[in-house]
Amino acid sequence: MVNWSPPPESVKKRSPWVQVVGHAGNFQTDSDGRLLKKFCESEQQCFLQLMSDTLQPFVPGYYGVTQRNEQDYNLMDDLLADFDSPCIMDCKMGSRTYLEEELRKARESPQPRRDMFEKMIAVDPDAPTAEERIQEAVLKTRYMQWRETLSSTATLGFRIEGIKKSDGSCNTNFKRTKCKDEVIQALEDFVDNDKQILVVGSSLLFVHDLSGKAGIWMIDFGKTAALPAPLTLDHRTPWLEGNREDGYLWGLDNFIEILSSMLEE
Ligand code: ATP
Ligand code: MG
Ligand code: MG
Repeated sequence: MVNWSPPPESVKKRSPWVQVVGHAGNFQTDSDGRLLKKFCESEQQCFLQLMSDTLQPFVPGYYGVTQRNEQDYNLMDDLLADFDSPCIMDCKMGSRTYLEEELRKARESPQPRRDMFEKMIAVDPDAPTAEERIQEAVLKTRYMQWRETLSSTATLGFRIEGIKKSDGSCNTNFKRTKCKDEVIQALEDFVDNDKQILVVGSSLLFVHDLSGKAGIWMIDFGKTAALPAPLTLDHRTPWLEGNREDGYLWGLDNFIEILSSMLEE
């Protein structure tokens, strides 16, 4: 993993924070170049561990829990604070983006979901079965599994969630970006075909700006939890329900391979 720009320290000219993907109401900024993300306990636990881990340079600095208007937030570095009109890309890592526990829970309370049916037809009108069409609803388990097969999550171990360019334009329409060539096209667009700034680790947040400054950080640890001993993962073995593998390193391998092939072009 490469991360050659230090996280923001003393900042002269601060870029306004912009969000690429995720729930819009989850974030607030403060005047010190820090970002407040709605409190999530597993994310807090993960940050606390990461602050004394070898991965610490590759995650936003974490400053504990803070309150605003009676809401708790995890306080972290705004990774954009030191960039000038940055281009930002969020890539969700792993061959599966939901927890085994979520699958189990969804199975325990099999309520047909109309909202998920609507999300499904918005992407692919032909995806629902005849029965789902009559019900105008799908089960959550079905929706979760269907979703993973649409993008490159299942085939490459990562997917592009969104790209925001320095001109302010934002593309989050990558739900069906699946094959390698499509991914490469999106990556080329992100770096404006400038191979000099090709950089290579939940999501990885890629940021670069006109000055050539670039960085990659690991973000979004809401679903990241320690594995109970003595279980271990290699993050590369294909996932079978029960083995808890997440394909994070497999996705990273594929990512690095794709970036290398772009450099050779
Ligand atoms: P989801 O779980 O749906 O992916 P979320 O609500 O957990 O979303 P994140 O994925 O953590 O939110 O972040 C959403 C977006 O906010 C990212 O794509 C990125 O643009 C921005 N963001 C998150 N953390 C930071 C940070 N430390 N510095 C700068 N931008 C950030
Ligand atoms: Mg995210
Ligand atoms: Mg999240």
